[in-house]
Amino acid sequence: MLGGKDKGKKGKIIHVFSSNNTVVIEGLNLIKKHLRAKKQGQKGQIVSKERAVSASGVAIICKSCGKQTRLGFKIDGDNKVRICKKCESEV
Ligand SMILES: [Zn+2]
Repeated sequence: MLGGKDKGKKGKIIHVFSSNNTVVIEGLNLIKKHLRAKKQGQKGQIVSKERAVSASGVAIICKSCGKQTRLGFKIDGDNKVRICKKCESEV
């Protein structure tokens, strides 16, 4: 993360929404959600859930060049793929 309250933290990207260039990072940018009891007698609970952040604010370590880089996207046929902005290999 490059900004916000989780600046400097590291985490694993667990989901990418290529449609709006956001990513979900394990353990980062958590929001607390109240779950209501579904049945009577059951307790409501609070769960933490990761919230998607803009991919442009995320620094990643590229697997192929080993450098800290930014996520880029490129269109490959019908697919949008994530690429390392330094070496342009897929990440
Ligand atoms: Zn790279």
